[in-house]
Amino acid sequence: MMKQFPKRTIARCSIVLSLLAASSVFAQSDLPAYDLLLRGGHVVDAKNHIDSVMDVAIKDGKIAKVAANIPSTDALKTIDAKGLYVTPGLIDLHVHVYNGTGERGSYAGDNSVPPDGFTFRVGVTTVVDAGCSGWKNFEDFKQRIIDRSKTRVLAMLNIVGSGMRGDKYEQNIADMDGEATAQMALKYPQTVVGIKTAHFGGPEWTPVEQAVIAGTKANIPVMVDFGTDRPTRPLYDLLTKKLRPGDIYTHMYSGLRQEQDPATLGPSKAFIEGRKRGVFFDTGTGGGSFKWSLAVPMVKDGFIPDSISTDLHIGSMNGATKDELNVASKMMAIGLSLQETIAEMTSHPAHEIKREDLGNLSQGSVADIAVLRVEKGHYGFTDMQNTRVDGTEKLVAELTIKDGKIVYDLNGMEAKLWNEPLDPNAKNASRWTTFAPRPPDTHNTPAKEMPH
Ligand SMILES: [Zn+2]
Repeated sequence: MMKQFPKRTIARCSIVLSLLAASSVFAQSDLPAYDLLLRGGHVVDAKNHIDSVMDVAIKDGKIAKVAANIPSTDALKTIDAKGLYVTPGLIDLHVHVYNGTGERGSYAGDNSVPPDGFTFRVGVTTVVDAGCSGWKNFEDFKQRIIDRSKTRVLAMLNIVGSGMRGDKYEQNIADMDGEATAQMALKYPQTVVGIKTAHFGGPEWTPVEQAVIAGTKANIPVMVDFGTDRPTRPLYDLLTKKLRPGDIYTHMYSGLRQEQDPATLGPSKAFIEGRKRGVFFDTGTGGGSFKWSLAVPMVKDGFIPDSISTDLHIGSMNGATKDELNVASKMMAIGLSLQETIAEMTSHPAHEIKREDLGNLSQGSVADIAVLRVEKGHYGFTDMQNTRVDGTEKLVAELTIKDGKIVYDLNGMEAKLWNEPLDPNAKNASRWTTFAPRPPDTHNTPAKEMPH
């Protein structure tokens, strides 16, 4: 039953409420112009053609300003980024993160990894799941992983309705329905950014053709892992006839399907013609999709990736691929510039998936940022055949910011020393960090035993 309040109490309550509202408006207007300011870092923002020392100011989760010499008095919190590179949050265009269903030997299960454990620590703020789910299980993937992850998880739908659950499903042409796949993509336009076809062993073009039907209907790209190399469906025809400009060929340095010209060791005619038509090329290095014997001569020949991605899964996370920054460091070791490498993890992949809102530091864009260090030393980078390229530089993420808040801080750049006075703005720390001071510790209170 509702308790009846006397009229006077209600009146007093509403006065208190309006006073509270007034005071919070006052506090709001009292705040400085920016929540967080990264000062003195070298900004690399390919989309905006910025490659110089700049300050980056953030307000309400958005990029507020990128300019030289923004005063720290204009921000609640200032972080010194001198000697570091400040870039848009990285986008890993090819990962497998449909983890947690309990299905063994399946990318809609145990072969996938939980995204948050592999992203922020390497500057990645957005991943694209490359076809773990199809139209039949995408909504399960969404409620299980996409909606619960701190990482921005986007998805390409597998053209196989059941997704990447093993050969029994992935070789079943009857389960490749371009129309149904397009309908699911159109239902979730904010999340579904592409169509994937992968691992097909048969002689038919059906998977590619159905994927293109779905991609055309939903106006999104198709990413192809071309599966077994078959004479009935040559790579040349895929890249010059079957795919549309804007579609994506992943595993570009795998050497499994005529990617390399056997005489010149540079790119095959199929690759050269495909690039001319506007097909994009993605690394997707994975567990068995990257060979130095292709990458070295092809990069030397100028055939560099459009996007750098990992193809992250349980078979690649501890092998030659490891993570996004390790793949990026590999590409730098064989001749890519830092600027090219950053572009291939930011504005380029954003363009490939038609998400121009991501991968840049334009004013008003979502404040996803990676603060990277180029470490100097002696490093070894391996491939699927366990051969090695040596390098002298390695990219390391010092700080990762997602939606304007710090989500990863390798060396405690934002933290005060333990014996220093508290930050005077600490009460507003939740405006710039997810590591805001916690409320008083209550863990010493004896826990009540819960009934089992
Ligand atoms: Zn993959």
